[in-house]
Amino acid sequence: MIEINKVAVIGAGTMGSGIASHLANAGIAVVLLDMVADGVKNRNAIAEGAIQRMLATSPPAFMDDSNAKLITPGNIADDMNLIADVDWIVEAVVERLDIKQALYKTIDQVRKPNTMVSSNTSTIPLKMLTNEMPDAFNQDFCITHFFNPVRYMRLLEVVAGPKTRQEVIETLCGFCEVKLGKSIVPCHDTPGFLANRVGVYALQVGITEAADLGITVEQADAIMGKPMGIPKTGVFGLYDLIGLDLMLDVVNSLSTALPAHDPFQKVAKGIPLIAELIRKGYSGNKGKGGFYCLRKTDNDVIRQTVDLQTGEYRNLKRPVLDAVQAGGSNGLRGLVETNDKYGLFAWRVLSKTLAYAASLIPEVTDDPLFVDEAMKLGYSWGKGPFEMIDELGPAWFRNRLESEGLDVPAILKHVGDGTFYRTEQSKFERLTSSQSYEQIKRAPGVVRLGDLTRVKKPIIENKSASLWDVDNGVACIEFHSKANALDPDSMALLKEALDIVGHDFKALLIHNDAPHFSVGFNLDYVLTAVKDKAWSRLDAVLEAFQSTCKAYKYAPFPVVGAPAGMGLGGGFEVLLHCDALLAHANTNVGLVETLVGLIPSGGGCKEMLYRWTVDARDDDDRLSGALKVFEIIGMAKTASSPVKARPLKMFLQRDHYCMNRDRLLVESKTRALELADGYVAPEELKFIALGATGMEAMQEMINQMQSKGITTPHDLVVANKLAWILSGGDRSAGEVMSENDVLELEREAFIALCDTAATVDRIEHMLTRGKPLRN
Ligand code: NAD
Repeated sequence: MIEINKVAVIGAGTMGSGIASHLANAGIAVVLLDMVADGVKNRNAIAEGAIQRMLATSPPAFMDDSNAKLITPGNIADDMNLIADVDWIVEAVVERLDIKQALYKTIDQVRKPNTMVSSNTSTIPLKMLTNEMPDAFNQDFCITHFFNPVRYMRLLEVVAGPKTRQEVIETLCGFCEVKLGKSIVPCHDTPGFLANRVGVYALQVGITEAADLGITVEQADAIMGKPMGIPKTGVFGLYDLIGLDLMLDVVNSLSTALPAHDPFQKVAKGIPLIAELIRKGYSGNKGKGGFYCLRKTDNDVIRQTVDLQTGEYRNLKRPVLDAVQAGGSNGLRGLVETNDKYGLFAWRVLSKTLAYAASLIPEVTDDPLFVDEAMKLGYSWGKGPFEMIDELGPAWFRNRLESEGLDVPAILKHVGDGTFYRTEQSKFERLTSSQSYEQIKRAPGVVRLGDLTRVKKPIIENKSASLWDVDNGVACIEFHSKANALDPDSMALLKEALDIVGHDFKALLIHNDAPHFSVGFNLDYVLTAVKDKAWSRLDAVLEAFQSTCKAYKYAPFPVVGAPAGMGLGGGFEVLLHCDALLAHANTNVGLVETLVGLIPSGGGCKEMLYRWTVDARDDDDRLSGALKVFEIIGMAKTASSPVKARPLKMFLQRDHYCMNRDRLLVESKTRALELADGYVAPEELKFIALGATGMEAMQEMINQMQSKGITTPHDLVVANKLAWILSGGDRSAGEVMSENDVLELEREAFIALCDTAATVDRIEHMLTRGKPLRN
């Protein structure tokens, strides 16, 4: 296998800079080249500017800003010699065949023999890219199609040419899978490959059907979004996000590359309004808006949308639709069988998209699994097309297509009365183009919890969590409530699991493969208790949360947290009590309770205070540690990667991360078994109260922030409660406190804050608007 230590990326636009920064995240040295900048003295201005842009993007492109130092910027006129000693050259220049072909000739003169070269093209077939190149080049060449934003999108489509060496494909797939955390979908050399072929078709069907049926922009997005398991940007929102102008280029390019009989051609024209909006400067979110836009009035900002028939903007109306309700309770069948034009829209969009996706077998890939993977990992669909057909019922779907005189793809006939996925004799299988069921096997080291849960029965379960045997003497707690918001059931199951694990297993993992590990404690639950003024009920729930966390922290076996996505608030408190973490590289952690007028009270204040004061040599050290915790929790600081979590002591030396979230289960299991060998549970923590000195110092910090005008009236109330906990309540300086003493202060403060109108307003605002209220 070829070793990859240094990579050149040519083209420092959206994709090139994203690929370069993610390579740097993996610790790889990168040369980033673009054209010589026009009209400025600095000839590297384009590549240098790209690095600066990457340092400022949101969500962050770099896992740590210092990674930018691994990228050497340059230009193709002066610096081509820099690519002579790299192991892999990634071409990510503008989508023009002539420019790419000319560049390959230059690259071939400079690269050392056998250096791998790949293109990030999204539409141009490999045979066209390389038809003028010698065999020696074509043996080292393939397509590696990354998705935007590169750090976050998990899909990588790989296309090999007829001459590409197997070693090149194996090396690049292995490297991108392990070091860059991508899931590889091999595709045949066809226009648009897989995800864009289906995804762009779905978008075109969505906009044309909406216009045809007289459905508004927001109605279409309400249907072709959450109820279908598609991100809530839906169809028009996604158009705005990508950019109307860029979409036009992609659609034109696909249309040119696909044959005249391809169903894509029927929807390629889209709707005339798009050209009109681009002409008026409404090309999407990067500019002044697109199908949606924001309008400033004297004292507010209003969200507007364009009327698809008249082209005029009007205020947004939140749609209430029977079809969406039916989809909510009866899944996809409920959605498409609703007897109105909205149900018809859902049917037309789904039937065309799913049938088109199914028709791509075997032309684009032989395997329905890859179609599903591509849409889930490249377009963030909750389910892939074949999983959706399984949900609808393949026979039902086929019959309805036939009854409406629509084409039925071959694989939909082959599936007969069965489903595309099935569990047979504890094996998770899918139907392939060879008309037989084959077991789903992932890359070595990759095990998804979802694959295991398909073929096993939980040891115990309730509506919010389950306990699984994940083999090798390790058990795993999976949260599975909505957004994995924690509730009394999640914690009850975790507590119940401890006896079982202590008896039958060597170690416990806390892991799930939902998009987010946990967004925190369920605020709906808190709000209901607050409205009932059920203070003792709330206290009991908090006490149960705290004692559960303590119970697994001090259990006689190791507990490893393996989070991905968000691990916030209560979710992070669960992680803080683990013996070690093995987190995905994009995990976002922090205690964000103050944003809803609360303070962490699942042991979050306690654990952070301990981390920041355990090494204190004297009272001053202890005070400065507590002040740091006051700042971190008070300002609801979060870390967008494990690397950024370290200086905040949210991650410790014992915690590790891995780039590929599909490897979390195996790696966290290895880590847990390492810890299980000779495991000794930690000792209970002791704290020393800061007393009045702590309160005064924190009050001083509050005053400083107030004088800068960055606090709201309720921030001061919340900050005071936090200061009270971190100082040890009414204890004198130097008094020794137990863990339970600090936990009691957390609960008291939490309940006192719940009893304020301003906290209730903050919670309600968060639940209805999804963002903090600054009151
Ligand atoms: P972009 O327009 O943002 O950037 C292209 C860059 O290439 C520009 O900085 C330009 O100066 C540079 N360039 C042009 N000719 C060059 C040359 N001869 N040598 C060096 N640099 C040159 O484009 P992008 O969106 O980053 O797309 C790059 C490639 O990635 C395209 O092939 C595109 O189809 C593909 N792609 C794009 C996306 C996306 O979402 N933008 C996603 C996947 C793949």
